[in-house]
Formats: sequence, structure tokens, C-alpha cells
Amino acid sequence: MTEQQTIDIARLPVMGEAAQQSYPTATLYVVATPIGNVTDMTLRALHLLALADVVACEDTRKTGALLQRFGLSKSTIAAHQHNEREVADKIVERLRAGQRVALVSDAGTPGVSDPGARIVDAVRTAGLNVVPLPGPSAAITALSASGLVNDRFHFVGFLPAKAKGRETALAPLTRETSTLVFYEAPHRIVDCVEALVAAFEPTRQVVFARELSKMFEEIHRCTLGEALAWVKADAHREKGEFVVLVEGAVEASDAEDIEAERVLQILLTECSVKQAANLAAQITGRKKNALYERALQIRGE
Ligand code: SAM
Repeated sequence: MTEQQTIDIARLPVMGEAAQQSYPTATLYVVATPIGNVTDMTLRALHLLALADVVACEDTRKTGALLQRFGLSKSTIAAHQHNEREVADKIVERLRAGQRVALVSDAGTPGVSDPGARIVDAVRTAGLNVVPLPGPSAAITALSASGLVNDRFHFVGFLPAKAKGRETALAPLTRETSTLVFYEAPHRIVDCVEALVAAFEPTRQVVFARELSKMFEEIHRCTLGEALAWVKADAHREKGEFVVLVEGAVEASDAEDIEAERVLQILLTECSVKQAANLAAQITGRKKNALYERALQIRGE
């Protein structure tokens, strides 16, 4: 077994590399922060936060406490969903005065189901500089551990709070072939899963990524048909923060192939190859010749 090593982060020579990059003044820095485990803060984020003139954040107390854990004490300004437009103007003024402004949210990447996009838009529209500092995001963290093999994902974020709204939001996604990514608040997880079960086939894989990077982290994969029972099996599950991933729809052509095959198989139990191919073509709209060839294969002729 390899010997375990310990690291003294403050003395890491690489920490100096964070300082080597230039951090221009008159710039808005969009800084990702941990989604649970505080030590997921990046070295570059720490370096920038130490340099920043002011930190714009959703909750000044929360961010103040986070900064304190790293020995930083910074002036903060509240930038939340209710004042984003007004605070954007103030940030633009500060940037014009040559300040470095860091923008953070309560957790994860600003602007992803979090305030930030309007501020970034105002800063860009004013012709000022925006620099992102990459780091944690619940969606990407969940995808990385899901094992759902698909190069494409469709980020949905939070579903509407009302049942009708959820139904309407999910309806256009039923044929989406990318992996679907949902965020959900703990008290709505059951409603969310019920809506997913109603909208998609029970055979689809679903991944629950709960309390990522926290003490009770849980990543569970099952079929959508099994999902509700899993969520309800433990009362604690209705308390954690969730990312829910749903396997995308089977490509339309594959789905049609599967359906044509199913129809053909049933018909062949009662009809001749020719009749089965004729009827299957009428039922599925597929080419009769291809169905005839396939029927011959199934019959072993
Ligand atoms: N901007 C953040 C990001 O980049 O991940 C997301 C903020 S959004 C307001 C909060 C939602 O993200 C939660 O309701 C949950 O769906 C998801 N989330 C945040 N932290 C999480 C965690 N540790 N484990 C699982 N999901 C999490």
C-alpha cells in the first residue's frame, strides 16, 4: 500500500502560482465557492478574494462567515435576486472607479440557478471586464459521478413550484435525448419525483445526487419506476439538497425501431411473415420490405 502523505497548503509552492496571473483592476470577478465542503474553495479564488476591494454576495452574513474561515475580512455588498438590477449599477460605478469586485453566490457558481447573470450583463453592456474563476457547481459535480453515458446534458434547474407548472415545463422535454439536470429544494423533492414519474417512461435511469461534498453525501441510481419508493424510504432524504439527473429519451429512430420490432414480434405469433410485415407497416408507418426481411430473420427463414 502507498504511504499516505499530508500537505501543508499554506506552504505549497504552487500557491505562489495563483499570484503570477494578472488580476486587472476595474474588473468583475465571478467566483465559484464550495457547495458543501468548505475546503473545495480553490487556491485562485482565495487569492482573488484577498485582492478584491469588495465582495458582492447573496447573503452578507453567510459570505462574511465563509471569508472569515479563510482569515479574510472584506467589505461586502448584498447582491440578491430582489436587488440585482440596482446593485448592478453600483457595481458598474465601482468598476469605473478602478475597483476589483468579486461576485459570489451562497454556494457554487454564480449565475447558475443563482443571481449573477444580470450583474454580468450590466457590466459587459458597460464595456467593462468580466473574469470567471471556475470552481464547484452542483450540476457538474452530479454529472461527473452519475455514470450516465451521454455527451450532452440539458440543464433545467428548478421546476416550477406548482403542479400544473411542473407538468407544462416537463411536457416539451419528453423527447429530449440529452441527460436532463434538475435542481430541487429538500421540501419539494417528493413533488418533483412525482412529476418526473408522470412525465417520463419508468424504465429511464435516474440519479439522485444528495448533499454533495457534505457529511451525508449520497448518490443513488435507479429506474424512474423505483425512484419514489427510494425517496420515501428514509425521512432524511426529504431534508437534503438534491440534483436529480434523468436519462434522456431514446433517439427517435431507435425508439421507432424498438416499437416496430415489438409489433412485428406480436403479429408473428398469429400471422404469416407476409401478413405480419403488411400489418406492421400499416401500424408503425415503417417500410414494408424492411419489416418483411426482419420477419424472415425472426422466423429463422
Ligand atoms: N449556483 C449553484 C451551483 O452552481 O451549483 C446552485 C445554486 S441553487 C440556488 C441551489 C440548488 O443547487 C439546491 O437546491 C440543489 O438542487 C443544488 N445543490 C447545491 N448544493 C448542493 C449539494 N451540496 N448537493 C446537492 N445539490 C446541491
